Amino acid sequence: MDHTRREIMKAGMALAAVSVIFPAKAQETANSIEMEGGELVIHPISHASLVLEAGDRTIYVDPVGEPSAYDGFPAPDLVLITHEHGDHYDAETLRALVGEQTQMITNQAVYDMLPEELRAIASQLANGESTESAGIGIDAIPAYNTTEDRLQYHPEGRDNGYVLSLSGVRVYIAGDTEDIPEMRALENIDLAFVPMNLPYTMTVEQAASAVNEFTPGVVYPYHYQGSDVEQFKSLVEEGGGETEVRLAAWY
Ligand code: ZN
Ligand code: ZN
Repeated sequence: MDHTRREIMKAGMALAAVSVIFPAKAQETANSIEMEGGELVIHPISHASLVLEAGDRTIYVDPVGEPSAYDGFPAPDLVLITHEHGDHYDAETLRALVGEQTQMITNQAVYDMLPEELRAIASQLANGESTESAGIGIDAIPAYNTTEDRLQYHPEGRDNGYVLSLSGVRVYIAGDTEDIPEMRALENIDLAFVPMNLPYTMTVEQAASAVNEFTPGVVYPYHYQGSDVEQFKSLVEEGGGETEVRLAAWY
């Protein structure tokens, strides 16, 4: 065996060893849940921004910041905007990301501030309303503050969370909210994204208490900069429910 061939074989064995340690499947399933006909794949982008891939459908939630963060994803079929704050809504980012097939769902306040070309592909949804887009059922869930000194951040009635129904699964994206009764009353949620940071949303105790009441199958803390998500995980686990807490790299 000549030297080059031996080097190639050595490299091949190293690659094989790596794929034993990190099988591609495990990496895929680390951030996915099962749905009818395949997997719903979760891609945390940053803070409150995420991408969901459900078969041939791609959903962007609150995409903000550098459009290059979305390189490698198909243009969205559906974009959801929860509210107007800069960590959730950025018209320039949206301009760069929307494709020919993109439909947007926003709350009314964001709809009213959309540039014309984005408003042309958008629909507004008020708290409690439902619609369907790209074959995905969408319920607008209220999102608001309830603690006296936080009320100014997210007044009741303005902002949206969303429950998506697709391929037999229900996904709750809470938006910026505290542990409101409407969250606690949710049923049959397979996957949830719940915020926890002060002063804008809630404490890890509030978040864990709510999660232990509506018991989603899987919960991702998001929008949590500065909060102790390990403590959140412990509190949910101590809650005794079946909810699986997944900590992902949002920052
Ligand atoms: Zn906000
Ligand atoms: Zn926010």
